[in-house]
Amino acid sequence: MNRYWSEVAKSLTPYVPGEQPKLANLIKLNTNENPYGPSPKALDAIREVTSDNLRLYPDPEGSRLKSAVSAYFGNIQPAQVFVGNGSDEVLAHVFLALLKHERPILFPDITYSFYPVYCRLYGVDFETVPLTEHFAIRPDDYIRSNGGVIFPNPNAPTGRALSLADIERIVAGNPASVVVVDEAYVDFGAESAVALVDRHPNLLVVQTLSKSRSLAGLRVGFAIGDAGLIEALERVKNSFNSYPLDRLALAGAAAAIEDREWFDRTRQAVMRSRDTLTARMTDLGFEVLPSRANFVFARHPGQDAGDLAQALRERGIIVRHFRLPRIEQFLRITIGTDEQCEALATALAEILNA
Ligand code: PMP
Repeated sequence: MNRYWSEVAKSLTPYVPGEQPKLANLIKLNTNENPYGPSPKALDAIREVTSDNLRLYPDPEGSRLKSAVSAYFGNIQPAQVFVGNGSDEVLAHVFLALLKHERPILFPDITYSFYPVYCRLYGVDFETVPLTEHFAIRPDDYIRSNGGVIFPNPNAPTGRALSLADIERIVAGNPASVVVVDEAYVDFGAESAVALVDRHPNLLVVQTLSKSRSLAGLRVGFAIGDAGLIEALERVKNSFNSYPLDRLALAGAAAAIEDREWFDRTRQAVMRSRDTLTARMTDLGFEVLPSRANFVFARHPGQDAGDLAQALRERGIIVRHFRLPRIEQFLRITIGTDEQCEALATALAEILNA
């Protein structure tokens, strides 16, 4: 802190992302990146726009990307799509444009830890709603007076998903406020609420290209909802940064969304590896929550999670351990390739036998 800081800068508690270690040869299973590369067609599209044209500003509307998203879902018009620099940026605009009201917003006590950070940045009041003892969201808990509701589906870091019927119950039970479903991990086996957008003007769905399209480094996310909600997001975005997506990101993202074959093949591979790893870890005595994401959330009755994370680290494997109430005995482990999952399971077996 120094004398030049604003009161806002002084008051912040920034989000701390998972470590991006500079060491080579680590098995990096700590930030839910995809072990397979992005679509080769996306890389070609990025190369193609890497030209003298970079002297020009990109399309401030991101129209071609919005059309690609609209065509991918089928039931959505481009005016129902908002695009941003990673879903984190999309979420930031959502908090300011749609969730800042008189009454507190609701989100689970165990969820994406960026939500309270945005609340503090923008002065949004919030209340957390405890997950059940099995770490599930109970839809009825969200049907009460609020300024908005936000939760990831599947939830992070638990990996547990709600059914579309449960999501619709929450959305229909809150006609006076916006319900935001953060679908960062939805493509690994959960049902997308985009199917409900036409019926519910208060539903906003947020997705990212960082996970199932393996483009965390390109920084692209989007939101889908009623055109009226999207307009509020555009107003905030156009008061913040006219060009949040550069030419490379716009071209690469559109091509990645259009390459359904690569998307399907790689996400199926991740889901298969997840199910194999879940069985392996269960055999080793872990309690593994049922995951619909590209990570598992697990604890061992006889081993401290912090010690396990440290022992894995000494073997060159990095996983995520949150020192937070209720979950300090869990590890969140990203699904890697089959070889990486096998190396993890072998290391865990050695540590448990030691
Ligand atoms: N939502 C959830 C639940 C996440 O876990 C993440 C990844 N940290 C994000 C949103 C943001 O992802 P990105 O900004 O890479 O799109």
